[in-house]
Amino acid sequence: MSFREKLALKAGGLLLNGFAERAASFGAAQGGRLERLNSLLAAARASAPEYDKACAAAGIAGGLVSEAELPKLPLLGRETLRAFSGGAALASLESGGTGGAGKVETRLDLEAVAARYAALLSVLKAAGWRMGERTAAFHPVEYGYFNNLGKMLAGLRFGKIVFEFFQQYLLYRLVHNRRNIYYDGRIFSDPAAAGALLESALREDPALLITRPDALMAVLKSRRGGPFPRFNRLKAVLTVGTVLGETVRREAEERFGAQVFNMYASTELGYAALSCRHSGDWLHLDEGRHLAEEAGGELVVTDLDNRLMPMLRYATGDAGEARERACLCGHSGPMLKVRGRKKNFIGTAGGGLYEAEVIDRVFPSGLPFFQLDLAAGKIILPPGSAPGAAAEILGLLDLPAGSYGTDGTGNFRLPSSGKFSFLLAGGK
Ligand SMILES: [Zn+2]
Repeated sequence: MSFREKLALKAGGLLLNGFAERAASFGAAQGGRLERLNSLLAAARASAPEYDKACAAAGIAGGLVSEAELPKLPLLGRETLRAFSGGAALASLESGGTGGAGKVETRLDLEAVAARYAALLSVLKAAGWRMGERTAAFHPVEYGYFNNLGKMLAGLRFGKIVFEFFQQYLLYRLVHNRRNIYYDGRIFSDPAAAGALLESALREDPALLITRPDALMAVLKSRRGGPFPRFNRLKAVLTVGTVLGETVRREAEERFGAQVFNMYASTELGYAALSCRHSGDWLHLDEGRHLAEEAGGELVVTDLDNRLMPMLRYATGDAGEARERACLCGHSGPMLKVRGRKKNFIGTAGGGLYEAEVIDRVFPSGLPFFQLDLAAGKIILPPGSAPGAAAEILGLLDLPAGSYGTDGTGNFRLPSSGKFSFLLAGGK
């Protein structure tokens, strides 16, 4: 074990019992889940009277008698989360929404921060990364620390400033040996910008590359029909943040010559699920600390680690499937498949399509990035796209010819998180 690894485990152990065990393997089953659920439920009911009333109306007098009773609890939306306001938070992380209305603050105490760090280490270990090996991480420029510093100072958010500085500059850079590489929205309309991003990663010679699937698509597309640079030490690509199409995963494994791992994680829920070498587009749920259900086609996830803001049956807004499966890796257990944001959906003659299905239909083609603006009824395409591109897209998506107009400005709409979506619901 390296000095850096010992240091991280030692520090984690001071903050959280069982830190090293949690860091050792992703999703390892742990006991005491019902007790944990009931302690979170008691905290949630005590801090939000409306939530308490809803539980009582659902026939939950005290706590749950068994885990099977979990679906009786009301679903948590972002509104209810705002009511969980007690206690002093170490970290308060903002997520979601393109405007102020959809935003939610996830509050974490010290133990929950340590739990997340242990889970992150277990994810990195599953991807074959060893502490201290060089990691390169693509980040949209919107996430740059100094980019946000002014805004945080203006909001007097000193706790967040210190926490983020610790995370990005001390923990990730010095201990994890991570290098952040920033990109902007041009990578989706300009293949040269995407190619430059790939070159930046190559110069870092990483053992692990962390990226959103949308940026991964951009770098893969930038080198189609030509040679792909050879990474000397790359063992794995870890994706997180948007939905990963199966066609993208396969092309990335072939072109990078490395294993691709897909992680389902969010500010609200932490690291909830991770794919394995054999799971295809399914992901193994972290069954030690998360529970997942499917309600009306939406993923509903419970995080057992956040006492400050109990995440009991959180409605994620993601369309997907959750079920017990036997994976080809030999492990049977709860698994997830994420299809995309629930609101980003098109109905076609052949059935409904979410982001993941749209990606798998269009990514293998040579078509440029585009956005289907569902509200305006337009396809946004980069300037200079082939004249037949819009018609070809509609054909691939089983949509009637001429059912969408063409906007050739290439003015893609990206939310404040910088995430690219082919489907734009237009706020509906
Ligand atoms: Zn597996």
